[in-house]
Amino acid sequence: MVNTDETTAAVSFDDVRKVYNDYFVAVDEFNAHIEDGEFITVVGPSGSGKSTLLRMIAGLETITAGDIRIGDESIAGVEPQDRGIAMVFQNYALYPHMSVEKNMAYGLRLTTDLADDEIERRVRETADMMGIEDELDSKPSELSGGQQQRVATGRAIVRDPKIFLMDEPLSNLDAKLKVHMRTELQRLQEELGTTTIYVTHDQHEALTMSDRIIVLDEGELQQFAPPDEVYNNPANRFVADFIGSPAMNFFEVASNGSTLVGDGFEYDIPARIADELDGSAGDDLELGIRPEDIDYDATGTNTVQATVEVVEVAGSDNFVYLDIEGTECRVRVPGDVKPAVGEQVTLAFDPADIHLFDERSGENLLADLRTTEPGTAEADTGADAAAAEQETEEVA
Ligand code: ADP
Repeated sequence: MVNTDETTAAVSFDDVRKVYNDYFVAVDEFNAHIEDGEFITVVGPSGSGKSTLLRMIAGLETITAGDIRIGDESIAGVEPQDRGIAMVFQNYALYPHMSVEKNMAYGLRLTTDLADDEIERRVRETADMMGIEDELDSKPSELSGGQQQRVATGRAIVRDPKIFLMDEPLSNLDAKLKVHMRTELQRLQEELGTTTIYVTHDQHEALTMSDRIIVLDEGELQQFAPPDEVYNNPANRFVADFIGSPAMNFFEVASNGSTLVGDGFEYDIPARIADELDGSAGDDLELGIRPEDIDYDATGTNTVQATVEVVEVAGSDNFVYLDIEGTECRVRVPGDVKPAVGEQVTLAFDPADIHLFDERSGENLLADLRTTEPGTAEADTGADAAAAEQETEEVA
């Protein structure tokens, strides 16, 4: 359907549940509200329910319980073709026997009664926008992967939908092209201002592209927040582990009120953290710290001794894998730091950078502290910096 009305394209999920074959729960108790015009990424491991979520909005799957609303209207009674949605898939799904122009016009011809010359005008305008105006007579097989991706996206754009649903649209592209198309999609979305829900298993894509990230695991919402927040203040251990690469380091520790004791180190916690832990402190905690937040070759108090096991040269930065009494610890260091295997080094964890999780529930015990702590301003830049680093690596 062409978006001719003025209704908002906000998307609300109310207690959405999807059960396959009467027993397999793919999505459960899912609640979220996406604002009109937002670019949302849905990220999670394979099988976490990302596609199911998208397919329910599109009408390709039924909703077992709960409701999804677009604007104020429940989609329950609305035919898929009348929902104002356009979907872009990983495999492009272009018709091989049709020209680019026919591929792009197909949806419009099928679902609208627009005149031929209006369809042609829109296709040309979109092809211009996508930089494929010289390929309108080509068949998909004559195009590069990037061009095919542009046709698939153009075919969605030309329909002027209220909502774009994108299911891993860039996974078939090589690393360099992927980075380029990512930027291109972001630019297009900004230009068009169309609500976009973008599914990916790639946490890096989620961090770099979206206004807000939905993190899913086993069909359940783990966190729904802007990239900075997901990175700097993960709701739980799953999010902390899934977002960021290399992943956050975790150490099993017990608290005696003022000190965290783990294998190979003792860590004095400042009063504000001790206060926050009050009541929940115990034997089953995990201390988390990101590889980029660890002070390498440090001096002073609260230090940890570690042994170098592997050095991974990554260009502007290196990654050093160390052993702390049987637990692996990854540290990001400048490119000119190349320690020898077996070398003993001293690490320090700044209290402003540590995370503490309840080992059983996975809950982030310092979440409130981080939300209110002025010190997080420094950490806020971490997500961008880490993402930029990875971008460089991918292109290289
Ligand atoms: P993701 O997109 O995160 O990889 P999916 O939404 O595709 O996850 O799938 C979530 C879970 O539901 C998976 O365990 C998958 O095997 C299962 N599933 C998906 N589609 C079907 C189906 N049509 N019938 C039965 N199970 C399904």
